[in-house]
Amino acid sequence: MANRAFDVIVVGAGTAGLPAAICAADRGLRVGLVEAAGVVGGTLHLSTASISAAGTSIQARHGVVDSAELHYDDCMRINRGTGDAKLLAAWTQGAAEMIEWLLSIGWSCDPDAPVLAPEHDLYAIPRTYRSTDQGFGLIDAFKRQLDRGRQQGNIELLLNTRMRSLVHKDGAVGGIVVERDSGLVELNARAVILTTGGYTASERHWRDIHGMAPLRYFRPTVLGDGLEAVSDIGGYYRFSEHVLPTFGGTRDIDSPDFAWIYTVILPSIRPPWEIYVNASGERFMAEDEPSIDARERALMKQPEWFFWCIFDQAIHEQSPKFFRWSDGQVAELFARGGDYVIADTLEELAAKCAMPPNALFATVANYNRGQAAGQDSFGRRAMPLPISGGPYYAVKHYGISICSAAGLAVNADLAPVRQDGSPIDGLYAAGEVIGVGFLGNAFLSGSIVSAAVTFGRQLGQRVLA
Ligand SMILES: Cc1cc2nc3c(=O)[nH]c(=O)nc-3n(C[C@H](O)[C@H](O)[C@H](O)COP(=O)(O)OP(=O)(O)OC[C@H]3O[C@@H](n4cnc5c(N)ncnc54)[C@H](O)[C@@H]3O)c2cc1C
Repeated sequence: MANRAFDVIVVGAGTAGLPAAICAADRGLRVGLVEAAGVVGGTLHLSTASISAAGTSIQARHGVVDSAELHYDDCMRINRGTGDAKLLAAWTQGAAEMIEWLLSIGWSCDPDAPVLAPEHDLYAIPRTYRSTDQGFGLIDAFKRQLDRGRQQGNIELLLNTRMRSLVHKDGAVGGIVVERDSGLVELNARAVILTTGGYTASERHWRDIHGMAPLRYFRPTVLGDGLEAVSDIGGYYRFSEHVLPTFGGTRDIDSPDFAWIYTVILPSIRPPWEIYVNASGERFMAEDEPSIDARERALMKQPEWFFWCIFDQAIHEQSPKFFRWSDGQVAELFARGGDYVIADTLEELAAKCAMPPNALFATVANYNRGQAAGQDSFGRRAMPLPISGGPYYAVKHYGISICSAAGLAVNADLAPVRQDGSPIDGLYAAGEVIGVGFLGNAFLSGSIVSAAVTFGRQLGQRVLA
């Protein structure tokens, strides 16, 4: 492929990149959309794609009174004032318009929307919309627009094309260098929009940025390339301190290097019957703690972000369904071992979980005493049964990561900046590459996809305006 020139190059055809490319092409700009993978969609292939926004027509239809200002205040309440004020305001202000645009291009959400979503600490007002068919619903809506842009000749889609560096001359970005089967090629443009996602697939970035690498759920091409390319030309990243685990994932049955939520671990949906025990054989929280944020923080203090859910045969038989898998799959997992342990005695269970047996005996005895007396030492209230008869079970649960807290420092125009605050001309960024940490030190329901699409779309509408 010979060197090429575009008005705008969008790097990464995922959640933020697709709307950026579509909206830039709608303005008649000639767009190069560069994607490392062989398909478009990025993390939307995995994402639940719950989206939050305030002041939408969907809310109005359900009689919900809401505004961007209330959304912003609610976010700052949940994250205890730790969000980036300018970016948070820009997202909450732009989110309703983004929803109307999504509706106009054929996206839809579950009919019960808007909801108060229990996976995170609750907003005060229902403003979360669950995408029909999860992330795939968004991909389908974007693809139709993408195909239109390509047919009109405004978008050139380059799949299996990985950006390796930015073309940077006299303080401004004028293109990118990409790697294709044929080798390295320079692509030039008047503006580059980076939408390469975070660094969830990169163990190296996790260790460099956070000093550890938890189990994660990711697309293999989301490797932190955007962070690296901009760091090479003077940009920097921030918000690494806003890292948080998603509570209680278990390894995927077929792909054990990935983890997601495969047990009913939310106390608002299924009050726990199990106890949570760390590597030292000790409980560390009330298992029915209702605040998801408090749960995540308690887990984050445990070495390597893991714990065992421990229960006995009576609980296994009598409790509401704990696993999202079939009984046959669960039986197979316990037969396999590893993260699924079954033992006739607590001593054997402790040995298989590599925890001190005396500590586990004491933990279970203490829990049982509290359960009998109706007074738990952690203040837990849901204690249907003691843990008293074998066989005993332990299932390893993890604090997992599905996103990247740290990201490029950008200004209010979404232009990456240098340490002295000056913007890098010709360069813009949206999506996880600017770090989900700008949303603050807490998860906000439906915020990541919403901000990615809002900012991606806005950049497509205004670069080179
Ligand atoms: C299981 C799961 C559930 C989730 N649920 C929700 C939810 O309900 N609500 C919510 O708000 N968030 C959710 N998230 C998070 C959210 O989906 C992601 O943060 C978001 O989709 C990321 O969007 P993005 O545009 O930044 O990156 P992506 O969508 O990952 O797109 C980045 C694209 O860039 C490409 N790329 C990377 N490097 C290069 C390069 N060098 N050259 C060319 N292309 C490159 C990648 O291949 C990829 O296609 C979830 C995440 C997961 C994993």
